[in-house]
Formats: sequence, C-alpha cells, structure tokens
Amino acid sequence: MNRVVIVICDSLRTDLITQRDAPFLTEFGGRSARFANHAGVFPSTTRTSAASIATGCLPARHGLLGNTMALDEGEGLVCLSVGKPDFRDRLHRATGRTLHAPTLAERLDRVGETAIAFSNVSPGAAYFLDPDGYGWVYNPAGSYGPGRRPLPAENGLAITKGDAGDTAATERFCEEVLRYRAPAVALLWLSEPDYTGHHTRLGSPEHRRAITSADGNVRRVADTVATLDPSGERILFLVGSDHGMETVDETIDLDKLLVEAGLKNTPTSSEVVVAPNGTAALLYFADPSGPLVGQVASFLETQDWVGRTFAGDGLAEIGLPTKRALQIAVTLRPDERANPHGVRGHSHIVRDSLEPKDCTGFGQHGGLGSHEQRPFLFATGGGFTPGTYCDRSSLIDITPTALRHLGLDTAGMDGRPLPQHPAGAT
Ligand SMILES: [Zn+2]
Repeated sequence: MNRVVIVICDSLRTDLITQRDAPFLTEFGGRSARFANHAGVFPSTTRTSAASIATGCLPARHGLLGNTMALDEGEGLVCLSVGKPDFRDRLHRATGRTLHAPTLAERLDRVGETAIAFSNVSPGAAYFLDPDGYGWVYNPAGSYGPGRRPLPAENGLAITKGDAGDTAATERFCEEVLRYRAPAVALLWLSEPDYTGHHTRLGSPEHRRAITSADGNVRRVADTVATLDPSGERILFLVGSDHGMETVDETIDLDKLLVEAGLKNTPTSSEVVVAPNGTAALLYFADPSGPLVGQVASFLETQDWVGRTFAGDGLAEIGLPTKRALQIAVTLRPDERANPHGVRGHSHIVRDSLEPKDCTGFGQHGGLGSHEQRPFLFATGGGFTPGTYCDRSSLIDITPTALRHLGLDTAGMDGRPLPQHPAGAT
C-alpha cells in the first residue's frame, strides 16, 4: 500500500539551503520536484502553519489564528499562548471545539488508516496536528495515542529542542515509525533551524550549524525511505519548512501605544486585546461591530512601524475569518537590509508580554515579509517528476497531495493536490 513521509525543518528559508550549510538538501533538491513559488500562511507562525498543513485549510477555515490567540473564558478576552500544553483543552472548553476542519489524521482514521507525528517544537504546534486524537502525536511535553490516550513516559519523546533532540527523534522515527510501524502517513517536525534562529543571528556560525543539523536529519530519513522503497513508487516523500525568518529590528509595545492613544484602558484590559505574533499582531475586540475597531484601524494607519493593516472584511484577503472577535491584523514594516552575516531582510516585531525577552538582531517570523513567507518544498516519489515547478503552492497543498497519493478524497480543503510535472513538461 502507498505511504507518505513528511519532514518539516522549522523556519528553514529557501535561500539558506546552500551547498556549504545544507549539502544533502542541495543535492536532494536537484533530484526532486522543487516548488519555487511555495508560500506560507498568515500569520507565518509555527502553530498556525501546523494546523494549515494538517487540515489543508487556511486559518479562516481551521480557526487556529496564531502562536497567541485571545480567548474569552468567562471574564473577557485574554491573550494566551497557543504553545502551552493546556491551550488545546482551554480552547475546547471556551469554544466547544478545537480545529474547525478535519485533520489528515481524522481523514485517515475514517478509512482505517493511521497517522503518526513526531514533533520537537512547542506542545501547541504538535497537538494541533491532530488535536482530537485520531492518530499518534509525540512531543516532549506529552505524547498521545488514538483517543488522546496519554502514553506512558517511557514510550514518550524525552528529548530537548536543538540538534541532539532532533537527531534522537529522527533516529527513532526512522527505526520505529518508518521501518516497524509503517503508518500511511508519518510526519517528523524538527526544531532546527528555528530553535537556534530565535536566539542567534541568521547566518551566524551557530545558525549555520543548526541548518546543517536539519540537513543531516533529512538525509537520515531520505536514506531510510530509499531503503524501504528503492523505486519511489509507493512512498511519497515531502520535505519542506513551515516559514522562513526575518531579522528583528525594533520591538514595538503596541499595548502601551494603544493606552497612550486613549484606545485601551490598561495594558491588560479586554476591550481591545493584542495577540502578538512576532512580525505581526492580531487585534481582538470585545465588541467586534463597535466604533473602537475603526478608531484603532485609523490609529494604525498613522504609525510608521506598520507594514500593512487588514480590518473587517479585508481579513479575508490574508486567509483570516471576518466575523469573529478578531477584527484587525497588522504586519510590521519589513525592509531588505542585510544583517552582519549578509542575510537579507529585517522586520520590526510586536512586544510579547507572555515572553518579554529582547530578540533584537535575532530571527523572527509571523508576518508577510518576503523571507518569512518563503518556506521550501521538495517532493520525490509518488509520481513526481524532478524539476523546478513555478506553479504557486502553499502549506495547504501538502495534505491534499498526501491524500491523492493514498487514493483518498481531497474535497473540503482550501489547498489542492500539487501538479506532478513541471509546467511545459509532458
Ligand atoms: Zn515554525
């Protein structure tokens, strides 16, 4: 039976895949279908990206709107981190559901097949691959089998972020998941180069080593896939990233600016709540149809740190829902200057009071900057012809492509199965 293997190298920018730092991916890309116009989603955060990959849908349809989200748990809107282990349960309690669209794991379960995910990023990003427990999700904060049955600690994924943990996860993924358990879909989500990119300069020796670490782990999986399916007919192998990164310029305290402008009572008041998402922010309103929405949008238009503002029905343009407490999304102004290591692209970020550390000069993402919106995607096996594909593609096309390879229905998603031949080829 056909199988799908997916590896995500968190935050690996397309232009940082070089012979020097990523020799395997460079060579592998040369014999793969390479999607040259592959895009992320908005916000370009890991947790939203995970939900979009899992469902084949934009955030407007799946409902996971960032690395942070404002929830009303009975005492007004409060901004929460989606990454915490308990966010999934809090979202379910407050809204009666998790994602609003079925995941790949759920679609497989309907036909008696299984998905297994190993994720070494935040618990939130791991659990929103399969929040209702149709398959298996492994994460250092806790691992679950079908029915969200917690796995005993000795069967869990006791690793840390970074090279050593990613490598331990990869070795076990290859042996246990790919060779022994052999599910219809197996997904490995590496923490590098995201983990190092958030606390070093992009292109620094440390960041380059993190890229090389991810490269080596992709090679381990590729070698295993090649052993299991030398002809490439049965196993579709997809390797990509969820988004890229920009270098952090200034940190903007948007709560403070709104208070100073008389638009918010206190930094923690709930009439308007800022959900910071790195180089973007989403603003939620206690009264989504009230006059404060327009007043805040007008204020943002006067701010020189703002890139683009989307409000009300304009949120649909960037794949966000329009009829919810969320009423404004703002991206922070990017620019193309290079950092000291020659890596292009800077952006301001919005201060995150849940994680108030100084990240100036380090990597970040969340917005619509040209580099944070350039994840990569390579496909081999499963009928894909090697070559450069110029068709527009996005994270939401991964699950439809996997389902087509498995002979399953691809209806009900925003994404579509990717073409298997470059334009102009026959
Ligand atoms: Zn990410």
